[in-house]
Amino acid sequence: MRVLGIETSCDETAASVVALDGGSAPESLSPKILSNVVLSQIEEHAAFGGVVPEIAARAHVEALDGIVEAALTDSAVSLKEIDAIAATAGPGLVGGLIVGLMTAKAIAAAANKPLIAINHLEGHALTARLTDGLDFPYLLLLVSGGHTQIVAVRGVGDYQRWATTIDDALGEAFDKTAKMLGLPYPGGPNVEKAAATGDASRFAFPRPMKGSAQPDFSFSGLKTAVRQAATAIAPLSDQDVADICASFQAAVADALGDRVARALARFRKEFPDKAKPALVVAGGVAANRTIKATLESRCSKAGFAFVAPPQKLCTDNAAMIAWAGIERLRAGMVGENAADFVPRSRWPLDSVSAPLVGSGR
Ligand code: ATP
Ligand code: MG
Ligand code: FE
Repeated sequence: MRVLGIETSCDETAASVVALDGGSAPESLSPKILSNVVLSQIEEHAAFGGVVPEIAARAHVEALDGIVEAALTDSAVSLKEIDAIAATAGPGLVGGLIVGLMTAKAIAAAANKPLIAINHLEGHALTARLTDGLDFPYLLLLVSGGHTQIVAVRGVGDYQRWATTIDDALGEAFDKTAKMLGLPYPGGPNVEKAAATGDASRFAFPRPMKGSAQPDFSFSGLKTAVRQAATAIAPLSDQDVADICASFQAAVADALGDRVARALARFRKEFPDKAKPALVVAGGVAANRTIKATLESRCSKAGFAFVAPPQKLCTDNAAMIAWAGIERLRAGMVGENAADFVPRSRWPLDSVSAPLVGSGR
């Protein structure tokens, strides 16, 4: 089985071909990423300190045809040999979603192939099965520029969101903190770099939601605390910036660790028979080493495996979309009217329960 995936929901234009050969038993499956082409628009948006939707949509239009061609060429698979086209249909910036889904519809119609509309978050949720062959159920922590969620992944199309942010996404908090401190976009990697030479104990920033009975995340109070600290000591020296970044990162890791530990405990209760439970991370923030170390130690304390797929598959890519297409095809979870499917800027993961969307023929 070979599926062409297309991803355009945010600021990456991506296409990929993923193949699955082997029998029907999960352990005999051997998925292969035949190509994985990602064009990041970071430079286009850097001057504005964040993703500008109109610029993103135009950049997708300009790049997508070439990216799809490159993905097919790299994979050495012709369009004829493709079994289906899978495209991100939401959630995300609607301009980009339209570009990707319409392109996928056109290819599907021209090549007479089925089209599968994929929820972007489902792509993140199922990646660990592509990379690590994980069995259901498992726990997913998604921490990116647009999402901060803990999801119980119980099966294909069977997702339960256990926690979400009540204000900013974690990546957004990193980006805003960087901006306040005069660090370049994207903020996450630059905050981490500055933090490396900083004193994490200099500022006692709040740990939002820590210990709360409500399972969710919050980061806007922390952002405000950073702004107040920065304003109080301005003008900032390089050491001040480093200390603020280190203290911010420590607060984030602490708060995140607390929320995750709570979810691990819930998972134990809900799935007592799961022999080797696992926590999977996804999203750009998962690249952060301090955060990774915190999560790893929480997992080992709770007896969970900690699964961090390669960073290239943690951030936005089309291999995860192609893979979600394969999972849905195998599960028979494709319905009828994909050719009529309209992109959805909002599309919660726990509402995708199948049968989803189907054949473009
Ligand atoms: P979406 O939320 O729709 O999946 P996105 O493009 O916002 O899309 P990603 O590309 O997965 O998300 O991640 C980008 C985010 O990750 C940015 O907010 C960036 O600052 C953050 N990030 C990247 N590297 C690091 C790091 N080392 N530490 C902390 N945050 C990081
Ligand atoms: Mg991105
Ligand atoms: Fe994403």
